[in-house]
Amino acid sequence: MEWLSDNERYAAIEENLKIINADIAEAAVKSGRAADDVKLMAVTKTVESKFINHAIGKGIKLIGENKVQEFLLKEPELDLTGCKAHLIGHLQSNKVKKIVGKVDTIQSVDTVSVAKEIGKRSLEAGITTNILLEVNVGNEESKFGFNPDELEERACEIAEIGGVNVSGLMCVAPICEKEAEIRAIFSNMHRMFIDIGAKKMDNINMSVLSMGMSGDYKQAILEGANLVRVGSAIFGARIYR
Ligand SMILES: *Cc1c(COP(=O)(O)O)cnc(C)c1O
Repeated sequence: MEWLSDNERYAAIEENLKIINADIAEAAVKSGRAADDVKLMAVTKTVESKFINHAIGKGIKLIGENKVQEFLLKEPELDLTGCKAHLIGHLQSNKVKKIVGKVDTIQSVDTVSVAKEIGKRSLEAGITTNILLEVNVGNEESKFGFNPDELEERACEIAEIGGVNVSGLMCVAPICEKEAEIRAIFSNMHRMFIDIGAKKMDNINMSVLSMGMSGDYKQAILEGANLVRVGSAIFGARIYR
């Protein structure tokens, strides 16, 4: 949307949010839940702070950033009153120290070792950090996350770590040609979410199922997502500089 003026872009964000909020409500109700059972996260990578603040002014209560450095640079410019921030991109252990205490939840925990580092830094800071376990639900070479067949075992190991609270699962679904394929992927995530939750392990409370992005958030909600992460459908196509 680089050809749009700032004012046109503010208007587009408002219009997009109306459409997405209506879609979310409809899908939530179709899946037997209330509209407000599903949270909308605005994914803000590459988006300038003024546009993020505009979305927050229009009711966004949750934002997601991929990179530690980018979040820390923008954070002083953001009006985060009433809005929480999550980290959703791959986190290297050497960056953990910088982000612990700065975000409400780290959604992209993909190894036991990064969970340990988050726990260690959280205990040092006297806090507990909420984490989600990222699942490589399509078993894709190119993606981060636990493979579905090791997830439960790794979840048990992570549950032993002090300073972290496992509050759910997250995935970035593979690109699927067919509606039925993506629905099956999300349904599989939902089953793992329910199964692990049913084990009632100490330190694990499966309350957040974070799945669905601009292209597939409706399908994700129909299969049980309660947090969708939407970027380009709100802010327009990303411009990487
Ligand atoms: C970029 C990103 C999103 C949002 O993607 P859109 O297709 O723009 O909605 C969601 N989750 C993660 C982890 C991302 O990196």
